[in-house]
Amino acid sequence: VLHLLRGGDGVGKSTQSRLLGDWIGEVTGREVVLTREPGGTELGRVLRQAILHGDHVDPRAEALLYAADRAHHVATLVRPAIERGAVVITDRYLDSSIAYQAGGRGLGDDSVELINRWAVQDLMPAATVLLDLDPAAAAARLTGAPDRLERAGSEFHRRTREVFLARAAAEPGRWLVVDASAGLDDVQSQIRVDLAARLDL
Ligand code: C5P
Repeated sequence: VLHLLRGGDGVGKSTQSRLLGDWIGEVTGREVVLTREPGGTELGRVLRQAILHGDHVDPRAEALLYAADRAHHVATLVRPAIERGAVVITDRYLDSSIAYQAGGRGLGDDSVELINRWAVQDLMPAATVLLDLDPAAAAARLTGAPDRLERAGSEFHRRTREVFLARAAAEPGRWLVVDASAGLDDVQSQIRVDLAARLDL
């Protein structure tokens, strides 16, 4: 089983992932692996620094760096975990690249999808949770110094959200869209109720 969490920035992905992981571990008794992209591996952490802290990264180079992080993450961490029977929850996955690099940056959907499908060798999640939040509300929740992407304009974040919502609407069997403006506990219980039914937990 593979559950993946994505959303825009400032929507509480890491907290929700952790709470979901605790619950899945309790109800299934299985090992739960919590991870993230970019930066789920040692190489990934180097790539994350390079992607987020440069002044400017060419959009195609940026797309390839995210895909490189993802390829290494899937090959060395996600697949081995699934093969030993663990449940993997990753904070971001392939759809984030379609939303940010294809949508936000305006690179074509097809090419970004293609390099990422190749990067993960078609490993797709059983379920994907979109924590949906208006970009202005999300920006207000961010704490600490914003990274290069978090400083990107509202138009960028609006396009990103549109792509996430369109992908969710196109593939409702995989996606669960949750209104992330609700309280932390409400969001978590919505995720649990839906995944319990969907994944037979
Ligand atoms: O959510 P997280 O902190 O992991 O994301 C790091 C930054 O990278 C965020 O600012 C997010 O907008 C950006 N990002 C991106 N393209 C991706 C994944 C994340 O631009 N594929």
